[in-house]
Amino acid sequence: MHRSIALFALASANLALPTHAHAAGQPLLIENVTVLSAEQSQPRGNRYVLVRDGRIAAVSDRAITAPDARKLDGTGKFLTPGIMDGHVHVSQAIGLPFGSSDPAIAAMEKQFFVQQPRSYLYFGVTQVVDLINMPARVAEFASQPQHPDTFRCGVAPVVDGYPLVFMDPATRYAQMNDYIFEPANAREHPLPPGADPAEHTPEAVVERIAKTDAICVKITLEDGFGDRSDWPLMSMDTLRRVRAATRKHGLLLLVHANALDMQRKAVEGQVDIIVHGLWNWNELQNQPGIPPAVAEHLRNIYTNKIGYEATLRVIPGVTDLLDPTLLDDPVYKKVVPPAILKWYRTEPAQWFKTEVFGANPDSARILGGIRTANQRWATSENGMRALRHLYELGQPLLLGSDTPSAPTYGNQPGYDTFREMRMMSQAGIPLSAIFEAATINNARRYRMEKDFGSIEPGKIANLLLLDANPLASVDAWSRIDKVILHGEPIERESLAAD
Ligand SMILES: [Zn+2]
Repeated sequence: MHRSIALFALASANLALPTHAHAAGQPLLIENVTVLSAEQSQPRGNRYVLVRDGRIAAVSDRAITAPDARKLDGTGKFLTPGIMDGHVHVSQAIGLPFGSSDPAIAAMEKQFFVQQPRSYLYFGVTQVVDLINMPARVAEFASQPQHPDTFRCGVAPVVDGYPLVFMDPATRYAQMNDYIFEPANAREHPLPPGADPAEHTPEAVVERIAKTDAICVKITLEDGFGDRSDWPLMSMDTLRRVRAATRKHGLLLLVHANALDMQRKAVEGQVDIIVHGLWNWNELQNQPGIPPAVAEHLRNIYTNKIGYEATLRVIPGVTDLLDPTLLDDPVYKKVVPPAILKWYRTEPAQWFKTEVFGANPDSARILGGIRTANQRWATSENGMRALRHLYELGQPLLLGSDTPSAPTYGNQPGYDTFREMRMMSQAGIPLSAIFEAATINNARRYRMEKDFGSIEPGKIANLLLLDANPLASVDAWSRIDKVILHGEPIERESLAAD
């Protein structure tokens, strides 16, 4: 008796807490809607969906009576699970220079971080996984009043390896402390002075990450972009130790790898997800079709049940900077705050474009053979062909946009998740497989199926009410009427940057 009173008191106390964007609000009843959900082979028309306490309470083919619920008329509309993007980086104010002391830049940075979660929601992205180790930035993203459910990975590079190669040697190890000492590289890449070797074994690093809120560990297998191949790599022995440690702590193991030789190591190391598409085919780069060695590798991904995020937008996200009409795209107004959009048109905003393409086309090598228009598209097309081949093998596809893949304003939050889906469609992936990639497959692969991925009772009510059928056209994913976040309907246009 006493115990139940205590529990009731606790429940009342919870209800009295100030309402937060994800707190349970009034029940919601969506009436007469067509439901699309991956566990069903066909859309189901004239459905009634009741949401209580932020979760789906019932899905019925008969009218539901719920006098306390707000009603949403779904006539002529399509209800889908919210989109999950399994590869984002919310820590970067896209396109703005790093470490600027200019107050105008600082003000824009602030605007960017306020708008960013709303831009994801504007494109129906209700769950994201962040793959850079900047917990404070991720927490800031998730502290905005309206934001997707946010998950993150710890990143464990080897000493001097990617992505540390791009960071200031004076501060990089303070910023990215979960680095691993690689004994095989000891002579050329020793531990930084003062570092404790016991803190930088695979076991110690993974254990440290496991003590945070991270759901995964990301390692990098990258020996250099383009023609470079001199960045230090993790040995197979170390990779196996990382694999064992992540299993021990129940963490997923993700790997950055986009080249054939690097992805082969990822398969051998039995990682959970390769978070990049296979666009660098090494010496096979310019071959047509799917060369036998590429086909064999893709089959190994499939038979070893390794997840694969195609990240098709990485290359175009950079090469789009060469398109003079890029910023005239009307969608940019919806996801980029006006002051930043204006700034993108200025000369200083071209800093990254100059850095990549410069006056000397050779500098473009850092992004993997994009020096000429032909080669640029070769890398992109390789990635698209590899994805299509994997799909034909039966691989359950995943959605990951890698927004932003670089400090390029050619990637934008939310919009690039949509553009990634559009590129999957251009690669010949059927709309039903894109639907599954964006919903149930990502939820399963990231072990979130209990909460996300389908429209079934018990799951979190992160839903999209669409004006068009996403099984009829990929553009339906951009015809959003309302985003429903933990049962709270949000008018799409209220999320726009303009
Ligand atoms: Zn990334």
